Amino acid sequence: MNRIQKYDVVVMGGGISGAMAAVAASSLGAKTLIVESHGFLGGTLTANGVGPMMTFHAGEKLAIQGFTNQLIERLKKLGKSPGHIFDTVGFTYSVTPFDAEAMKHELELMVTESGGEILYHTMLAGVKTDSGRIISITVCNKSGLSEIEGSVFIDGTGDGDLSVGAGAEFTKGRDTDGAMQPMTLKMKMYNVDIPKVKEYIHNHPEDFPLYNGDTSIIEKAPRLSVGGFDSLFKEAKAKGEISIPRENILFFETNNPGEVILNTTRILGHDGTDAMSLSRAEMEGRKQCRELEQFVRKYIPGFENAVVESTGPNIGVRGSRQIKGVYTLTVEDLMEQRLFEDTIAHSGYPVDIHSPDGEGTKHQKLEWGGMYSIPYACMITESIKNLIVIGRCISATFEAQSAMRTTPTTGAIGHAGGVAAALAAEGGVDVQKVNIKEVQQKLKEQGAYLEV
Ligand SMILES: Cc1cc2nc3c(=O)[nH]c(=O)nc-3n(C[C@H](O)[C@H](O)[C@H](O)COP(=O)(O)OP(=O)(O)OC[C@H]3O[C@@H](n4cnc5c(N)ncnc54)[C@H](O)[C@@H]3O)c2cc1C
Repeated sequence: MNRIQKYDVVVMGGGISGAMAAVAASSLGAKTLIVESHGFLGGTLTANGVGPMMTFHAGEKLAIQGFTNQLIERLKKLGKSPGHIFDTVGFTYSVTPFDAEAMKHELELMVTESGGEILYHTMLAGVKTDSGRIISITVCNKSGLSEIEGSVFIDGTGDGDLSVGAGAEFTKGRDTDGAMQPMTLKMKMYNVDIPKVKEYIHNHPEDFPLYNGDTSIIEKAPRLSVGGFDSLFKEAKAKGEISIPRENILFFETNNPGEVILNTTRILGHDGTDAMSLSRAEMEGRKQCRELEQFVRKYIPGFENAVVESTGPNIGVRGSRQIKGVYTLTVEDLMEQRLFEDTIAHSGYPVDIHSPDGEGTKHQKLEWGGMYSIPYACMITESIKNLIVIGRCISATFEAQSAMRTTPTTGAIGHAGGVAAALAAEGGVDVQKVNIKEVQQKLKEQGAYLEV
């Protein structure tokens, strides 16, 4: 087995959360390595076609700042994002479209400029523990098997792969039956005639129930985000042209005018941590995308000449394992806007559960401008002394996870995880004993928004 030199901080998984963790840890001087199975960073944002990022805001307040917002500032300067714009779906405050290719490069630059190293095309293959500590991980890539040692390990895999390898406990899905949110294979199309789509929306307000008859909202942003086309979708379903177990079409224009991301397929009953189930889900997603392509081109004015640019490339998994932490975030914490002593991030994104049973999406919003808090105790386990969990697999109930899982929030959580890991490595202390006041102070110094 090859041996790779020892690092202060090893981040497993280079999604938005892992990337922000690597930037934060290396900015504090920790020798940091980020390990990613793809050949680029960004996770769902670049490898699954997810977008826009939603939402950095809680009312007027920019609740998520720090490195995650710096990424947007960098993209804006390059003309690769219009920044935070009004959400014309009418669901949350702002959405942040971006160009995915530019994001790949900017994330990579942010990590390397801060001194971090990146190991691409590499999967986790094993975890060696001793006396409640992770000693090393084994990874698999074109060089064969290699062992990487570290002082502190961060799990940014989204599915908790590293934590489970280290023996952490976890839950999956909703309490009643363990069912998880459906997966979605995204589809990106270009050459969409947006003015023509808007004309249809204005002429058929009844097809867009979220707008309550007033479609003027779609003129409030430089890019179109919309959910609806209900009657057209219903008609196609009745004719047997669509088998997707969803009630309407949802799409978002990206940074590039006329390019849209369709968030409409719905793949039920699969498990993102079971390789065979995941493979079957990809195939079902592809079938649904083919139906969707035919549907939009035939039924939606403005899509006649639209071209499929990509699906996925990988199917998107909204939720799988939640690693059991010292504290588990609940929906009551969110709705009561509970502030914790060890708060490390805030968010205004609502509960958003795509039904695991078929049609329907459950939303539960905070009062306008309301903002909940994420405590550090959701990112550490009781027993593993050098493991920090970040991103969508932190300790949270099914309902709470459906809110905290979106990309600005997971970016902010990753930022905090990187700071805590660097401080634990520097001080030689267990992650459970990190001085939280110091974490909060460093986060503020690095530009994060914290009301503690
Ligand atoms: C279909 C869908 C639609 C969504 N829509 C939106 C939206 O519109 N806006 C929004 O803000 N959020 C949206 N989300 C939520 C959001 O995309 C994710 O929850 C968020 O990106 C999670 O970030 P993360 O860093 O925790 O994980 P991920 O982005 O999943 O990153 C995990 C990374 O770890 C790597 N990895 C995983 N396992 C291993 C392993 N064993 N070895 C090596 N590498 C590994 C992966 O390749 C990946 O790069 C959506 C999610 C889905 C699935």
